[in-house]
Amino acid sequence: MILIDGKKAASELREELRQEVAELKTKHNKVPGLTVILIGDLTPSQIYVRNKEKSANEVGLKSDVIRYPDSVEEKTVLEKISELNKDDGVSGILVQLPLPKHIDKKKVIEAIDPSKDVDGFHPMNVGNLSSGYESSVPCTPLGCYLLIKKIEPNLNGKKAVIVGRSNLNGKPMTQLLLKENCTVTITHSKTKDLKSECLEADIVVAAVGIPELVKGDWIKEGTIVIDVGINKTEKGIVGDVHFEEVSKVAKALTPVPGGVGPMTIACLLKNTIDCFKRSQI
Ligand code: NAP
Repeated sequence: MILIDGKKAASELREELRQEVAELKTKHNKVPGLTVILIGDLTPSQIYVRNKEKSANEVGLKSDVIRYPDSVEEKTVLEKISELNKDDGVSGILVQLPLPKHIDKKKVIEAIDPSKDVDGFHPMNVGNLSSGYESSVPCTPLGCYLLIKKIEPNLNGKKAVIVGRSNLNGKPMTQLLLKENCTVTITHSKTKDLKSECLEADIVVAAVGIPELVKGDWIKEGTIVIDVGINKTEKGIVGDVHFEEVSKVAKALTPVPGGVGPMTIACLLKNTIDCFKRSQI
């Protein structure tokens, strides 16, 4: 079984991006800039943002974090986004989720200029992705896609089963694999026989949030299994896939942690650089 090393893949991607940023700097005399808006003091969000900033600096991007207290008014955030939309030095804008209850997530996402939407959440980018046009793609599914392509460069005609239909993971994952000519089944909490669906698959991507939901006898031999889940349990962090069981049958499998997770931030940097490149055309 191939243990898909997300840490190594992310480090290789960051190295490629570092070289790309250096070339862009020579060509345009400026570097792409990522601005993150962080509201409140939730510890996981603080950690994510710190890691994003560190990785951005590592590849040579200009990186800024704008911090607001939990009590910040929605209007203040929307005005800041509007200001950043007009700022030539800002290639990508990310508003760290979740937001406090009094701030409308939809309004915030839609306020970001789609050409600077490095999370790929703006409806314009969602539409472009599903139409097969160039767009920013949400970072986690993009990372999963890059890991799958490393194992199997030609996905033509492969049967993929996506477990979970969130806007963040399942739906964009479906679009990415459709674009690669996979036959994609997207499953969710109302799917009748998830085990039978998974048993048909050459590729399974699990993004559910239920610890070890996908069992060994759900997977046929030779399947590539990507585990997006991050679940805190008594025995520590586990994915949505039963690692021990599935590793006995799968062709390749991502561990949790150390699989998909590290690719997410690397893909955010890639999206920022891609936004910058599109703005220079
Ligand atoms: P989400 O928005 O809660 O969506 C979960 C999806 O799973 C829903 O579509 C839900 O179906 C489906 N589901 C729930 N129970 C199911 C069942 N028994 N059988 C089949 N499908 C079922 O979750 P998410 O934001 O996509 O996150 C999923 C997991 O990925 C979480 O563990 C999260 O922490 C993790 N995550 C990891 C990363 C990373 O960087 N590695 C990034 C983001 C998220 P319905 O639509 O019918 O409700």
